[in-house]
Amino acid sequence: MDALSLFSLQGKRALITGSSRGIGYGIAEALAGAGAEILLNARDKVALGDAAAKLATAGAKVHALAFDVTSEDSVSDAIAHAESEIGPIDIVVNNAGMQHRQPLEEWRLDKFEQVMATNLTSAFLVSREAVKGMIARKRGRIINICSVMSNVARASIAPYSASKAALANLTRGMAVDWAKHGINVNGIAPGYIRTELNEALLQNVEFNAWVEKRTPLGRWADPSELGGAAIFLASDASTYVSGHILYVDGGFTATV
Ligand code: NAP
Repeated sequence: MDALSLFSLQGKRALITGSSRGIGYGIAEALAGAGAEILLNARDKVALGDAAAKLATAGAKVHALAFDVTSEDSVSDAIAHAESEIGPIDIVVNNAGMQHRQPLEEWRLDKFEQVMATNLTSAFLVSREAVKGMIARKRGRIINICSVMSNVARASIAPYSASKAALANLTRGMAVDWAKHGINVNGIAPGYIRTELNEALLQNVEFNAWVEKRTPLGRWADPSELGGAAIFLASDASTYVSGHILYVDGGFTATV
């Protein structure tokens, strides 16, 4: 038996939200490399078009779907359009997310709600729409991008941590609700990854030193290093894995 064929995504179609850059783009590249047709998403149409062109040049079959994952109507229109005009969505990666850093006592309610809408409610909206087709077809994979902050907290990002902790348990809830329809739902919890979301931290010498010291593997990761976990959870290599949060954090959560 060819064990590597377990990881093949030939004939599958994957929607990755927030995939014009960073972790989402890295995951899209990996899933495309395993054979999947890719639906890229972000709000900025220009950046999205550039990302789609780059992935297509690398040989992938790619579609660009610009929509805001926090808008219920936009999500439902985009997914209905994709299912009817492009084809069935087999894999959803709920990756779109945002960060905002401020002492908790200074956070405004609208910013708190924006973080929740972008990091948590979006995964509910996108999954609820995409799962309709998955339930009808009795198969599907959903992967929610959580965080080490699903488990721990750090000063100035309490609402982010709260959104990611809730996303981890939403992942378990989705897994339980949709298992009877043949749908596996899992999470990936990245540690510190070099992306635009962390631009301010990357430029902070002191913070860099802290990440390198605090992470057992001693470094930040590249977005491409999330690819293997995503292929595993999207493919037949993980048919009996559901409700699991896979930490890709260089050992961050394994140590004090
Ligand atoms: P990033 O570089 O800032 O990229 C975020 C992506 O999401 C962009 O494509 C952005 O494009 C899109 N996006 C943001 N809001 C959106 C919305 N409302 N609708 C549609 N798309 C939206 O972030 P990243 O570091 O790759 O993070 C990706 C995910 O990983 C997030 O959920 C983040 O919380 C999580 N994560 C990151 C790290 C890390 O160290 N980087 C660690 C743990 C978890 P537009 O702005 O054009 O919409």
